[in-house]
Amino acid sequence: MSAAVSIFSRTDRRARFSEPGEDRTYILRAEAIAKIAAENAADVDAQSRFPAEAFAALRDQKLLGMLIPTELGGEGARAADVADVCAILGAACASTAMIFAMHQVKLACLIRHHRNNPWQLEFLRRAADKQLLLASSTTEGMNGGNIRSSEAAIQLEGPKVRLTRDASCISYGAEADAIVTTARRGDSAANSDQVLVVFEKETYTLERTKSWDTLGMRGTCSVGYLLRAEGVADQVMAEPYDRIHTQTMAPYAHLFWSSAWCGVATGAFATARAFVRNASRHSGGKMPPGANNLTKARVSLETLRAAVQAGLANFERNAREPGGLTAMDAQLALNFLKVEASELAVQTVTHAMRACGLSGYRNDTEYSLGRSLRDILSAPIMIHNDRILASAEASVLMSAPPSALSR
Ligand SMILES: Cc1cc2nc3c(=O)[nH]c(=O)nc-3n(C[C@H](O)[C@H](O)[C@H](O)COP(=O)(O)OP(=O)(O)OC[C@H]3O[C@@H](n4cnc5c(N)ncnc54)[C@H](O)[C@@H]3O)c2cc1C
Repeated sequence: MSAAVSIFSRTDRRARFSEPGEDRTYILRAEAIAKIAAENAADVDAQSRFPAEAFAALRDQKLLGMLIPTELGGEGARAADVADVCAILGAACASTAMIFAMHQVKLACLIRHHRNNPWQLEFLRRAADKQLLLASSTTEGMNGGNIRSSEAAIQLEGPKVRLTRDASCISYGAEADAIVTTARRGDSAANSDQVLVVFEKETYTLERTKSWDTLGMRGTCSVGYLLRAEGVADQVMAEPYDRIHTQTMAPYAHLFWSSAWCGVATGAFATARAFVRNASRHSGGKMPPGANNLTKARVSLETLRAAVQAGLANFERNAREPGGLTAMDAQLALNFLKVEASELAVQTVTHAMRACGLSGYRNDTEYSLGRSLRDILSAPIMIHNDRILASAEASVLMSAPPSALSR
């Protein structure tokens, strides 16, 4: 396979979400890592293997702990900074970006809800110091993306906690340093009465139950496992999961995933642009027949970027107001961002491939877009859009959008 088109042109810089003049070292560091991720992306996909080179570089650049507050040894980055890194990585390797995004979501849950628990604070210090990688377990048994329901319950016995869970998929489970998992609060609790628990690698075993042979996102290695874990009760977060979910888990997941998909779309657009420029140069300035698809790709990419930017701004504003994030409109907007961003990203990559014609469809050209297309098709089903839309139906009936645009 030929080397991919450079993803570091001027156009690609538009993948970023921070304001000009703000601290750009996250961006510079992310760009250095993205080069490494891009070099290995084809092999990661072909072998369905963990993007080890990119994660070694992320650790070197200390980006795994960027969200952790400075007093705990991190860099106190904002959501928009993490979104930038997700987007820059996404343009290089979708699996790398998605793993990074999932890790940051789990870290955010701990950072925002530790309630000064000494074990959890110490864990965060260690996560910053050792650049620990956190995996997520929410999908269980045959429950699909119904995150707000758990089957397996934690067993609390004095100072100890135990959990055995049929985890349908845990991305990079084998490579992670810790797993952050939802669970039922106890044997007699309802399925929706959940807690979030952190287990470190030394305290669990993973028995493989399902493989990960998928169309795309092959580097996430989202294998199914029987998780058996044992730890101390302090590892159970005191804040009920339903609050963690609305305040942090869902908002950060939707923002960071959307940013990663935006990056994949940006990378595909850059490839299509390079193809159209090259084709027109070789035919005396005459555009190739599919060139109008490049413009369509740009239209959907700009809409996608604007949606993610607005989502980040709304999130920052709502997070500052008491009850801002739990408000129905705020939750609806975040859920709709995920749905819309995933569809727009698929649209952008599809247009980009059409712009490249056969050169994009083939796997053996520098304009090949097969991997991007396969990767991005995971976006609408990573928590199925139809599930999200169905669960929003009641709220849509109850809440009308304001007629003014400035509110
Ligand atoms: C790239 C990627 C990475 C992911 N990483 C993680 C991760 O790290 N941790 C994690 O917890 N989850 C992960 N997920 C899963 C994700 O969070 C959602 O749970 C998942 O995408 C929902 O998929 P679904 O379409 O099967 O589920 P849904 O559409 O929500 O539901 C599917 C429904 O079909 C039924 N069903 C499923 N299989 C069968 C079958 N064989 N026969 C009959 N009925 C069936 C189920 O009962 C369920 O009701 C990942 C997903 C992707 C795409």
